[in-house]
Amino acid sequence: MNIHEYQAKGLLRQYGANVSDGRIVMNAAEAKTKASEMDGPLWVVKAQIHAGGRGKGHFKEAEAGEAGGVRLAHSAEEAANEAQKMLGRTLVTHQTGPAGKQVNRIYIEDGADIEKEFYLAVLLDRETSRISFVASTEGGMNIEEVAEETPEKIVSFTVDPAAGFSAYHGRRVAFALGLEGKQIKQCVQLIALLYKMFIEKDMDMLEINPLIITKDGDLKCLDAKMGFDGNALYRQPDIMELRDETEEDAKELEASKYDLNYIALDGEIGCMVNGAGLAMATMDIIKLYGSEPANFLDVGGGATKEKVTEAFKIITSDPQVKGILVNIFGGIMRCDVIAEGVVAAVKDVGLKVPLVVRLEGTKVAEGKKIINESGLNVIVGDDLGDAAKKIVKAVKG
Ligand code: GDP
Ligand code: MG
Repeated sequence: MNIHEYQAKGLLRQYGANVSDGRIVMNAAEAKTKASEMDGPLWVVKAQIHAGGRGKGHFKEAEAGEAGGVRLAHSAEEAANEAQKMLGRTLVTHQTGPAGKQVNRIYIEDGADIEKEFYLAVLLDRETSRISFVASTEGGMNIEEVAEETPEKIVSFTVDPAAGFSAYHGRRVAFALGLEGKQIKQCVQLIALLYKMFIEKDMDMLEINPLIITKDGDLKCLDAKMGFDGNALYRQPDIMELRDETEEDAKELEASKYDLNYIALDGEIGCMVNGAGLAMATMDIIKLYGSEPANFLDVGGGATKEKVTEAFKIITSDPQVKGILVNIFGGIMRCDVIAEGVVAAVKDVGLKVPLVVRLEGTKVAEGKKIINESGLNVIVGDDLGDAAKKIVKAVKG
């Protein structure tokens, strides 16, 4: 789960990191008062969406030469105006995709004077099962580009969990960034607190881009992005409160209510499969035959008819779906339960696209009987390859 920049900065502040003073604006009416609570001379007005690249992004239906989602203002009035201009509009960045994201919240910050910009991130390194730090002198840039073009400008290391964090890790970052004097001590403190909060809050991603040196020579976190391990949220009630459901895919949100392992994708073939491995294989084979999956969905082993019904409804609610492939290899999952769920869902919401069903395993005869007697217009797949070919053919015509 991700949170907004202003919420991430709240957490950083709580742990003692240096961040600017700021106010969150939820509607146009409060922009003026919030902006006036800071003295200036510089205000930064920042669109809050769960995506980076806002500064270089653009609004849909922007006026010629209009700035992106991070704007500088020189009076409280100007800051309030800029906030009002951005609220409710759709911001497109290299991370949102062409559809963009609607801006519902604006963060107004006390502007910092920037001397230098750096990149800093804390990540979960799955290869070593350790927490890793990534630092670069190329701040404010797209780090993927830096990694591609000048990899020598990125310093990265992991922390051994047995030995834990030590000041040496902080100094390593400080020297990689070429820091001097009081900045070295500030950097060690910052790296220590980031490591602590990363573990305590069950994060899986923390990015400060840019980390800056101000004209006064102090280190400051100017931007912040945080991701949290969804499987640990049950023990992070304060993080759960930061959840902004309007930022999440509506289908994924609905699926999470029914405890379904569903991930929305961009393709045209909706998939209902049991088992994560088989679901991956099903997506692969759809691609092999020339189409793209619209989702990943593992209904799991012990799914009830109700759960299957909800899953099928979520798939059909996706306007991009032009065909559905149900691929069940029943072990613990019973084919008759799947069949009942599919039939119940179709009765409820109808079926406007071709449906291919491949059933195998436990209670397969009962499952096929339910489908056959339902009167549904179902194409039967004999095996995985056959089923995939048939659904792609039905969709592509
Ligand atoms: P992003 O584009 O979504 O990554 O948003 P950032 O928060 O990183 O802001 C983008 C850029 O705006 C930064 O790299 C800075 O150059 C600039 N910026 C952000 N905050 C300030 C500030 O307080 N003062 C000044 N002068 N520039 C800022
Ligand atoms: Mg940034």
